[in-house]
Amino acid sequence: MPGIGIPSLEASLPPIVKRNYGKWTSHDHIRPGVIKHDAESGEACYTVRAAMPPNARVSTPTMRMLCGLADEFSEGFFRVTQRNSIEFVGVPVGRIEELIARLAGHGFPVGGTNRSLHNMTCCTGYMHCHLAATDPAAIVKAISEMLIKEYETDCLPAGLKISGSGCINNCGEGSCADIGIVGVHRDLPPINAEKLKGCELPLVISVCPVGAIKPKGPGMVEIDPKKCIHCPACSVACAAFAPIGSANGDGVAIVVGGKSSNTGDGPALAKMVIPYLPNNPPHWPEVTEVVRKIVDTWVANAHRDERVGEWINRIGWEKFYQRTGLKMSFKVVDGYDQRSLEYVRSNVRFRW
Ligand code: SF4
Ligand code: SF4
Repeated sequence: MPGIGIPSLEASLPPIVKRNYGKWTSHDHIRPGVIKHDAESGEACYTVRAAMPPNARVSTPTMRMLCGLADEFSEGFFRVTQRNSIEFVGVPVGRIEELIARLAGHGFPVGGTNRSLHNMTCCTGYMHCHLAATDPAAIVKAISEMLIKEYETDCLPAGLKISGSGCINNCGEGSCADIGIVGVHRDLPPINAEKLKGCELPLVISVCPVGAIKPKGPGMVEIDPKKCIHCPACSVACAAFAPIGSANGDGVAIVVGGKSSNTGDGPALAKMVIPYLPNNPPHWPEVTEVVRKIVDTWVANAHRDERVGEWINRIGWEKFYQRTGLKMSFKVVDGYDQRSLEYVRSNVRFRW
């Protein structure tokens, strides 16, 4: 019976996982990109992890190729991980190197486990979001080319997670990554007075998370440029606010030190360290240079198993800036507009 809701998990599990469901005893990292899980039964399950394209976008020919590899090497099953890696689960130990070579032949690097760069994730950005201030998929691709050694080898002090979002809505979750790439708008949203005539003004005003939209005479509102954080919330909610964005206004902010897991110092919100870098496709040299500096300084100074945020907490922000050579200003570290305690939303919102 298919039932209702999402499809049943049972039909999607490889036989070795079904046999040992809930009876695993330990796991080991055999080599970068290969994990061995041991079960009470004495069985060992080998998993091979490869990086997917940005935002896990694949064509049907690519998906057929991956399905063909799964048929050949992992009894017809694979899974896509939280960070958009593809994992072939239950690969016979004697065929692991062959699968890695076949994946490499199709341009899929194997790695992203243990103390390495884990697969980078990003939101859709320019692909199909009208709110994006940058192209996170292209930036992630540029960074992946720079950090391919860090992806394919266990050469880092701890796991490294880098995520990209096209705007500060942060669907790509840069705020809980070691390094977050976040698209930023710097323009005010243009207000279309004609369209605004048909709007409920209290509703329009309530949309803004920082209370930047105020009444301005009958049937009109204005935006306080000192308060606006250039989130696109008003553009999303109301057609009177045109999408923000311009070639000179849009760019990229860098945030560091975020973490979602409960290991080490626990979960943490990333802090902004660079408020703006220009959009500079196709290789985003300004962004990759900053990421390189942060990664190299962390690698040279961190203790074993110390994630980026934990390393910064130990040495302090002053030393972080000194050692990375990044420019510190009063505009960074404590939030975008200097009023937020851990990014708290400080406005009054109308709800009725
Ligand atoms: S983070 Fe911004 S650009 Fe990316 S999907 Fe979300 S709203 Fe769109
Ligand atoms: S909703 Fe966002 S973009 Fe619109 S006025 Fe408020 S802060 Fe600015």
